[in-house]
Amino acid sequence: MKKIAAGIAISALAASGLEAEETLQKRIAPPAVYEVAPGLGHFTDDVLFGEVWLRKELAPRDRSLITVAALISTGKTGQIPGHVRRALDNGVTPGELGELITQLAFYTGWPNAVSAVTEVKTVFDERGIGAVTASGVVPLTLEAAAEAARAATVNTAVAPTAPALADLTNRVLFGDLWRRPELSPRDRSLITMAALIAIGQPEQLPFHANRAMDNGLTRTEAAEVATHLGFYAGWPRAMSAVPVLERVFAGREAAPAVGVAMAAPDLRIIRASADGGMAGPVDRFTGAVRVSGLYQGDAPARIGGGTVAFSAGARTAWHTHPLGQTLFIVSGRGWVQKEGGPKDEVGPGDVVWIPPNVRHWHGATADQPMTHFAVAEARDGSSVTWMELVPDAAYHAGSR
Ligand code: MN
Repeated sequence: MKKIAAGIAISALAASGLEAEETLQKRIAPPAVYEVAPGLGHFTDDVLFGEVWLRKELAPRDRSLITVAALISTGKTGQIPGHVRRALDNGVTPGELGELITQLAFYTGWPNAVSAVTEVKTVFDERGIGAVTASGVVPLTLEAAAEAARAATVNTAVAPTAPALADLTNRVLFGDLWRRPELSPRDRSLITMAALIAIGQPEQLPFHANRAMDNGLTRTEAAEVATHLGFYAGWPRAMSAVPVLERVFAGREAAPAVGVAMAAPDLRIIRASADGGMAGPVDRFTGAVRVSGLYQGDAPARIGGGTVAFSAGARTAWHTHPLGQTLFIVSGRGWVQKEGGPKDEVGPGDVVWIPPNVRHWHGATADQPMTHFAVAEARDGSSVTWMELVPDAAYHAGSR
């Protein structure tokens, strides 16, 4: 009995000894981590490398690209050589590593990039990797419509205040760097996204996340970038990226990229009504008013409008529009007036812009009818706030 028990104990020891040896071999955390912070050792080996790095949602090569990008962006030079070795093992070429550093010079600053060069050079030397040569391949052509939209934004938002920064953005950043063939546009986007998340710059993330997805990054991969970076840039940075990505995903669902195969919604025609439409409600209009052709755009559009025909002397009540209103005068003669302002006469072809939240009324003149087509955007589902009717005295009071 004793003998058997001892035998079991010995074989159990042998088995655990073997397991221990295997465990040691699988460990990525250095022994010092286990000596100082055994919990960190556990999370490093069992979670980060035992689980996260193995998740199928992002390829090992992509994980290496974003890890190295996060380390360079945040100036964590000590960890760069280890992850550069891993990146090379995961299929990132020396030329791609060099280009990754170049890309990050623009997005996280020259000092970070230059410090990274020193660290990467030690790995290149250790592995006998020679000097990286320029590919000499012709620059990539960026998608014309997207590039025009991007340049227009820079020219409007940046050029008036910082013309040289706008010029460098257009000419160097997008005209040269983003066109370099040494990295695929998808990889360039992936690295840029990783850097923005790692340095906690979610303001710039929507543009680059959209660009990454235009360049072929999937939604699952984009979400996995944030997940992976939780470990390399910290949970707060990863968590801050999530609502930004959520809005990007929602925006892309609402407006699918041009060329995406899906059933396009039908055009909608609101037919002219034979009877001229419905009567304007008496609490909103004075006099005979017909409202027709009411329409509302499909979300995310928030535009809507309709045609309003006023008989002579008819007019709206006082009202405001949360996001303003545009009136196209179709026929007749009309009056428009903001509270405290002059009463202006308008006629066919005239266009009136009424700014948001300005109390006003519009209608026909006292002796002629007027028809206008009115368009307004809705905020929180509402495009107008109605108030009291315009009394006759106020309606007739001085035109200019
Ligand atoms: Mn109005």
